[in-house]
Amino acid sequence: MSITTFEELKQECLAKNKTIWEVTQEEECLINDVTVENVRNEVLKHISTMKETIKTGMLSSEKSVSGWCGDDCQKLITRYKSNKSLFGNLYEKILIYALATSEENLRMGRIVACPTAGSCGIIPGVLVAYAEEYNLSDDEQINFLITAGKIGSIISNKVQLAGAVAGCQAECGVASAMCAGALAQTLGGNVEIVLNAVALAMKNLLGLTCDPVCGLVEVPCIKRNPILSIHAISAVELAMAGIESKIPVDEVIDAMRQTGQLMSPMLKESSLAGLATTKTAINLKEKMFK
Ligand code: SF4
Repeated sequence: MSITTFEELKQECLAKNKTIWEVTQEEECLINDVTVENVRNEVLKHISTMKETIKTGMLSSEKSVSGWCGDDCQKLITRYKSNKSLFGNLYEKILIYALATSEENLRMGRIVACPTAGSCGIIPGVLVAYAEEYNLSDDEQINFLITAGKIGSIISNKVQLAGAVAGCQAECGVASAMCAGALAQTLGGNVEIVLNAVALAMKNLLGLTCDPVCGLVEVPCIKRNPILSIHAISAVELAMAGIESKIPVDEVIDAMRQTGQLMSPMLKESSLAGLATTKTAINLKEKMFK
């Protein structure tokens, strides 16, 4: 039987003295009747795609249909070439990689939806940047992504991961939480620390609306990816210091589901409110449709 709550996941890890990725890997093999090798090869393929997307994205400045987006990653690269970064290499790379990936999404390039296309930059941004800076082996990167996947899968048991259903908290918010948990585990955090990182990331994004300008996955989606990648890192830093989420992670997800249900449909991907109906957004829409 599959593990559907974080509490069950924690109990399973504690009972077996195993990590989240080990428990998840076993579960995958059992449910899908595949070998450990199959699972890990499949995950490695996704990681390779993420890396290719980052490379392609960093080389392009092709704009989108709206003409608004597509060249921001180049601006960031230029800034960092002149050593203007506030926080050093890892921080720079996370922002660049997350932005490169989400800009590739707007160009209809190949991305790994993790968990969705709109939020596709957050996990690759952190995973690939961290792997490069700290020389993670392929195995460690696979463990990262398996952990992230399990976190997303548990959340999706309670909340459909779509802006149209629960707002952007269910897309970029969940990506950030998945990423926080996976990085905490990579840093050696035990299951409690990992779940605290997930809870801290998630609960600070509750209520995040989905109000894409002109109905395109561009504004605010693209820049939300690098910014929420850094949000994930902040949650990890707190959790690794032993700071706990006073609300357990399963309850945070319940609150997220309820928040999504209470959120006006006008703020759930319909582009009928929020940023999508600002004066500038309406002007852009008129120009586009002329
Ligand atoms: S704002 Fe909406 S469309 Fe954009 S990434 Fe978030 S959920 Fe997806």
